[in-house]
Amino acid sequence: MAASRSQSQTTEAAGSRAADRLPLGSALGRELQDISARGLRRFLRCIDGAQDTSVRIEGRDYLLFCSNNYLGLANHPEVVAAARDALARYGASAVSSRLVSGHMRAHARLEHCIAEWKGSEAALVFSTGYQANIGVITSLVGHGDLVVSDELNHASIIDGCRLASAQTAIYRHGDVEQLERILAGSGGAERVLIVTESVFSMDGDHAPLKAIAATARRYGAWLMVDEAHAAGVFGPGGAGLVEQLGLQEQVDIHMGTLGKALGSFGAYVAGSQALIDQLVNRARSFIFTTGLPPSAAAAAEAAIGVCKREPERARGLLTRARELGVRLRAAGLAVPNVESQILPVIIGKAQSTVAVAEALLARGIYVAAIRPPTVPEGTSRLRLSLMATHSREQIDAVAQALIETARPLR
Ligand SMILES: *Cc1c(COP(=O)(O)O)cnc(C)c1O
Repeated sequence: MAASRSQSQTTEAAGSRAADRLPLGSALGRELQDISARGLRRFLRCIDGAQDTSVRIEGRDYLLFCSNNYLGLANHPEVVAAARDALARYGASAVSSRLVSGHMRAHARLEHCIAEWKGSEAALVFSTGYQANIGVITSLVGHGDLVVSDELNHASIIDGCRLASAQTAIYRHGDVEQLERILAGSGGAERVLIVTESVFSMDGDHAPLKAIAATARRYGAWLMVDEAHAAGVFGPGGAGLVEQLGLQEQVDIHMGTLGKALGSFGAYVAGSQALIDQLVNRARSFIFTTGLPPSAAAAAEAAIGVCKREPERARGLLTRARELGVRLRAAGLAVPNVESQILPVIIGKAQSTVAVAEALLARGIYVAAIRPPTVPEGTSRLRLSLMATHSREQIDAVAQALIETARPLR
């Protein structure tokens, strides 16, 4: 019988391949060797204590210039106290999915606070930004729809596009003309979702949000903006770049993280009540995961309070970042002229970038080397990030060290 013959062939094929299979250790050993040979091996470095401007790693102190603790809120007394109080009141964990018994007062309070901060009808908190992006994209588009995404969007957006069964079109970084051409040819798609970051994570530059919003409107496309690196830093009370530009009404889906400038953990999506209801019903990365720890929710709420009350924190941070950029460019380093707390120092080759990062470590300065696949091939960089709590002396020290170690390579 044909069916049984094909079945026995399958078994034979499986048998012949089975003989070549490597044990896990040797298979991974080869793969890791290959990663190392390309200068792309990654290692964990353990920091003792909090994410302060100076940290201790294996008994030695380093100036920290690659943390996302942009406003110093992760170890701000008010934020830490809010987490501690919530820990005492609510316990260590939400223990369940928000839809089972894991929706706690701390979440409800935070969501109310975020909706008010963003000036939106409603908000929903996800356990991470990675899950928020995957959840939003897969809940809003599917077969017959189109997602249009900036080529430099974060991995969580890319993975959201991959998981959704919609088509994906990528436009060159910030290229509104190409975005427009894609939309002009999108007649067959029922729904079109445009996704962009506002302040880009590895470049610190801004998306041309006004032009993108106008284009989206012309073609009836929905617009989602990821403010992971803008929330807390840009806009009135740190509400984001969209608010700074007065584009709230033109952005349908506002996403941001609580684990960067806000010094806590998790992420939010803000928008209409219908959007939030859809996510509660459809976003698998919201439904099938444990709710954010209530202490993290309370910490984020306290952090938003600090941002609203002390806008000078973010302003001072951006001023110092601007000054440092000017100084590094004047010294001949390839630092793009961007308005943000993120200052990429482009080196080029992965191996050279690692060499500079190691030279900086030897001088007691910790800046992570960012390599492919996080950034495109040939654009490996040191991604310098400033904190509002860095002192002038600390910034002087990193500038001097960078000029001495990174310039000779260029
Ligand atoms: C960090 C980041 C995320 C993911 O947020 P997590 O809460 O860390 O999972 C999403 N988008 C962008 C642009 C980010 O930089």
